[in-house]
Amino acid sequence: MPELPEVQALVDFLRERTDGLAIVGVELGSISVLKTYDPPPTALRGMPINNVARHGKFIDIEAEGLHLVFHLARAGWLRWSDSLASTTIRPGKSPIAVRCRLSDGSGFDLTEAGTRKRLAAYIVSDPAQVPGIARLGPDPMADDFTLGEFAAMLEGRRTQVKGLLKDQGFLAGVGNAYSDEVLHAAWLSPFALASTLDQEQVQKLYAALRDTLAGAVSAASGKPAKELKDAKRAGMRVHGRTGEACPVCGDVVREVSFADSSLQYCATCQTGGKPLADRRMSRLLK
Ligand SMILES: [Zn+2]
Repeated sequence: MPELPEVQALVDFLRERTDGLAIVGVELGSISVLKTYDPPPTALRGMPINNVARHGKFIDIEAEGLHLVFHLARAGWLRWSDSLASTTIRPGKSPIAVRCRLSDGSGFDLTEAGTRKRLAAYIVSDPAQVPGIARLGPDPMADDFTLGEFAAMLEGRRTQVKGLLKDQGFLAGVGNAYSDEVLHAAWLSPFALASTLDQEQVQKLYAALRDTLAGAVSAASGKPAKELKDAKRAGMRVHGRTGEACPVCGDVVREVSFADSSLQYCATCQTGGKPLADRRMSRLLK
């Protein structure tokens, strides 16, 4: 799933490519992908694009007061084309969820792999009308996101810090991959309770959050959409690297698996050398 750094790179990419262009048409590959019905997609026809922005993991294309907003979800992606196929997509059989045509013949498709369709698009006059945007917590890359604010947010939260970092209502833009990376950089256990962190740990977590994301944003910046997935994978130190060596200490990267996700961490760097319990691993070892 693209997270803040990849979404930011997509936004920068789209802003550059759509400069001076208008939307010619928005076609839907399935009715259910569009979560709003008024205004209809035809309202965007002929509208010049004024800006492309990011809200958490949402991308927002603004055209004359209307906003085409979308969220790529777990298996969605954006495929840019300098010359978009002329075939009109129609709801039903297409693997393409949304096709957006621009005035110079270019455009993009939003695609989604797998059978669980969660990619969501919205056409609204105000991005705050999108429920997922209205409930977003602060953006960790915002200039005014300070250590003081972050410390206040963590205070009294008897919640595992991994879960908090991923919670879009708590913090906007971080998902499963970057929360693993941030916790590794902060030398913190993913299961540590936010309320138990001391001042120094909060400080390290804040610095790790900002540094990890800033590093990933600059690594992703300027890359075309099709290269972003590989760039993200290449930048990971523990996430998705179960069984490989921790680049900091050389210990093996371990995993805790859940019903539909898993997390990776280094026991030496993060949990005082003690492996975390993993239901699946213990079942395999019985
Ligand atoms: Zn390590």
